[in-house]
Amino acid sequence: MVGEHCRMTEADEIRARPAIDFQAAGGVDRSRLERSLGLHGERVGYGRYHFTGGSEPHWVDLYTAAFPRCDCADHLWRDAICKHILAALIREGNEMILGEVGRLVAGLRSAA
Ligand SMILES: [Zn+2]
Repeated sequence: MVGEHCRMTEADEIRARPAIDFQAAGGVDRSRLERSLGLHGERVGYGRYHFTGGSEPHWVDLYTAAFPRCDCADHLWRDAICKHILAALIREGNEMILGEVGRLVAGLRSAA
């Protein structure tokens, strides 16, 4: 019975928002966002992705508070919102990140 009351139900999970503090991380980093677009992602569960295409494969879990959001060094050591987390948020349809992608494209266009 111990722990039964704190187990999240499926409905709770659906209401959950990604446990990511953009403000604390200093917002979305443009170069990471750019690199995130080249990753290959496979959705393996609710908010869970396996990414390949970078130097090493990595696992992202956007919602489970008990796990770090990503297992890469960039996130674990620098506390950054890494390219894998950004790639997962894009696949989840996160409006804030999609807005950042739009600004990135606009920036590239005006620089061309
Ligand atoms: Zn990562």
